[in-house]
Amino acid sequence: MPEGPEIRQAADRVEAAVAHRKIEAIEFAFGHLQPFERRLCGRLVTRVDTRGKAMLTHFDNGWTIYSHNQLYGRWYTCARGRIPQTNRQLRLALHNDRHSAYLYSASDIEVVKTKRLDEHPFLARLGPDVLSENPSVEDIVQRLQSRSFCRRQLGALLLDQGFVAGLGNYLRAEILTLARLHPLRRPTDCTTEQIDKLARLIIKITRRSYRTRGITNPPSLVARLKAKGLKKREQYRFNTYGRAGKACHYCGTNIELNMSGGRKMYFCPGCQPSS
Ligand SMILES: [Zn+2]
Repeated sequence: MPEGPEIRQAADRVEAAVAHRKIEAIEFAFGHLQPFERRLCGRLVTRVDTRGKAMLTHFDNGWTIYSHNQLYGRWYTCARGRIPQTNRQLRLALHNDRHSAYLYSASDIEVVKTKRLDEHPFLARLGPDVLSENPSVEDIVQRLQSRSFCRRQLGALLLDQGFVAGLGNYLRAEILTLARLHPLRRPTDCTTEQIDKLARLIIKITRRSYRTRGITNPPSLVARLKAKGLKKREQYRFNTYGRAGKACHYCGTNIELNMSGGRKMYFCPGCQPSS
């Protein structure tokens, strides 16, 4: 499932394709949304935001299209008049004079007043989005130390979109390894230095993944792995996620895999001792 960085990259593509030029045609597949076609046609898309795994396409007349890709939704952008090659079901199409943006397969689409987005039931319970809302290290430290979150196990907490929006399974694994914290530790078990480091890494690794299109390993490690002949992206992309039974690049211990809440949880027993 795409995580915050992949959704933000999709939002960048949609924004580059359709923002700031008059929308000449818009099509919703769902009948209850079709009355909005007239309201949004002829307007400008001002920007495309993300909140975790949701995308917000803002129009200049105070309306926003909210879409959540769930597991299957996918955006395509192309020159106007071209149709993407896919068997997926078209749900939404936006066209200006040059480009088109198509959303396929997503079923969770709404049109809402921009000023009432905070009341949206999904958005209202989200924590800050690292890539759209730029929370500070101090904001994240405060959340880790707050009564709502300080007794939660880090492995579960980092996937909770109410804590920080946009983290998923691969970001969780890589952030906790670099923070040298076992997934069963809780913020309340950590020193102030550990909390501070974890907060910095939540921001840093999410931004790095966005910048590098999903490579979370530090550039120096990536260079070292490539020099050793590991040239395929999947060989140098992660240290921990998806590497059960393989040696950790930092300490040589084999990466382990546990199941937690129905999700695969990877960690390095060498870098992330349980106590
Ligand atoms: Zn290790």
